[in-house]
Amino acid sequence: MAEPKENLQMEKIVSLCKRRGFIFQSSEIYGGINGFWDYGPLGAELKRNVKELWWNSMTRQRDDVAGLEATIIMSPAIWKASGHVDTFSDPMCDCKKCKKRFRADQLCEDQGLTLIKNADGKFALPEGTKCTSCDSKELTEPRPFNLMFKTYVGPVESEDNVAYLRPETAQAIFAQFKNVLETSRQKVPFGIGQIGKAFRNEVTPRNYTFRSREFEQMELEFFIKPDEAIEAIHGSVATVAAGHPGEPQPNWGWQAWHQYWVEERVRFYEGIGLSRETLGFHIQTKEELAHYARACTDILFKFPFSKKDEQGNVKGDELEGIAARSDFDLSQHQRFSGKPQHVFDDELRQAWAKLPKEKQDDLWRRYYENRKNYLTKSGVEAEAAAKQATDDANALAKGNYVPHVIEPSAGVDRLILALIANAYSETTKTDDKGKSETIYTMKFHPRVAPIKVGVLPLLKNKPDLVAKALAVRDLLRPWMNVYYDDGGSIGKRYARQDEAGTPFCVTIDFDTLGEKPELLDTVTLRYRDDGKQERLKISELRDWLLVKIR
Ligand code: ATP
Repeated sequence: MAEPKENLQMEKIVSLCKRRGFIFQSSEIYGGINGFWDYGPLGAELKRNVKELWWNSMTRQRDDVAGLEATIIMSPAIWKASGHVDTFSDPMCDCKKCKKRFRADQLCEDQGLTLIKNADGKFALPEGTKCTSCDSKELTEPRPFNLMFKTYVGPVESEDNVAYLRPETAQAIFAQFKNVLETSRQKVPFGIGQIGKAFRNEVTPRNYTFRSREFEQMELEFFIKPDEAIEAIHGSVATVAAGHPGEPQPNWGWQAWHQYWVEERVRFYEGIGLSRETLGFHIQTKEELAHYARACTDILFKFPFSKKDEQGNVKGDELEGIAARSDFDLSQHQRFSGKPQHVFDDELRQAWAKLPKEKQDDLWRRYYENRKNYLTKSGVEAEAAAKQATDDANALAKGNYVPHVIEPSAGVDRLILALIANAYSETTKTDDKGKSETIYTMKFHPRVAPIKVGVLPLLKNKPDLVAKALAVRDLLRPWMNVYYDDGGSIGKRYARQDEAGTPFCVTIDFDTLGEKPELLDTVTLRYRDDGKQERLKISELRDWLLVKIR
């Protein structure tokens, strides 16, 4: 049977990634290890560029976000509070006949079925589900499988010493919320960003690096005031129309902030070459949302393996989720650690004191209901929840609250894969003798391209050309990743750079040395995507390139 076209596309991408040194299988000489990938020389540069762009746009270029770099192994109490120990699992089932193991929801999805979730939270396979490997219908009932990797801290392998490799970077941000707040001179609304490794023992890693067991995340927790506080201070909470809501305003509630971050993140993707047409959105339904979440919008990318819907449209697969998580996370850590996580807001205290009694009562009641709802849903017994919610609402009236949070959470590796799939382009050229050749070009945006410029002396056996080319390389090197190449014909060298995704090449030729005096100290600059060439002065080269790559 012919290979489906989209898989063929993935195969070509995987093969180019290996051939050119973007991505290798981890531990390949030992047969590899499922769900783990290494980045080769070009992949490492690409990844570094992406992380740096995220870090710059999310922290350095903003006044309202600070950075953090926390450890991978943290107190296991953090994962108890966050809910990961009890509920971070995927339903897994086995084929009794061929012994193949599946993630039950994916197994159903692959057959156009939906996994059944019973009222007691247990899962069941719908009628007709079969093993996709051997067609047997003898499958075990789905059972939860916790995705956290376990290890032991210290020499004794006992339950007391169990620790986990973090399955997300976000929790460290919550756990360090107070320290960052106190040391960064930030005030709510503000965010904390972090980039780092995360580990999930995925039941079935698949789609190349898309679902890996070790990966990196770029996460922002943006802390905001509860809507009741905004209403007390500003009279009402801003309403938002569709699209980017513009510069942040003091009267923004969670909806405006959520929309703002969705749009900011889309702008980020557009800025590195993923146009809106390549992206998709999934707005989580009430049923899909966690009980504490107000909203979650997933930004998707249309990967070659993304499935089509009934109308034949490709929706895409998740690159990033932007969730409005209420005050759940800090509240959980407050309850589990016993350390207060609220902030004091004098503007709120003063504004509250001036409100008419009915308004105070209205806001008090709404805040009380929200807090009680969170506490009871989190398993606090009704009476205790009512008492705690009363204390919390009284605290609000004095200017204290636990901040709410908007969380844009992106995966580095998925983005790298999206950029690679988006950049991949092939054309077949046939020469005069009828010999055809496939040309591969990785059309990366110059901002993310692993190599920014190739520096090529026309001939390598002419010392003057080589010396000049090396001088150009050294001129550019402190500013960008430069690749010097003097091996083979100029056409071959261009082709090599096209495959690596290098957006520009400069060639040092005899005119550079002054053969035509008016062209002394100029180079030929060649564009990757259309092969267009122009002449540029060496003295202007660095600034010209910097504008393109930043
Ligand atoms: P999925 O539903 O695809 O498993 P998720 O909703 O569990 O993803 P989150 O917990 O929201 O993912 O994690 C945030 C981001 O981290 C995701 O959008 C994705 O980019 C990345 N990510 C999550 N799991 C993996 C993984 N196994 N491999 C690579 N990246 C991942």
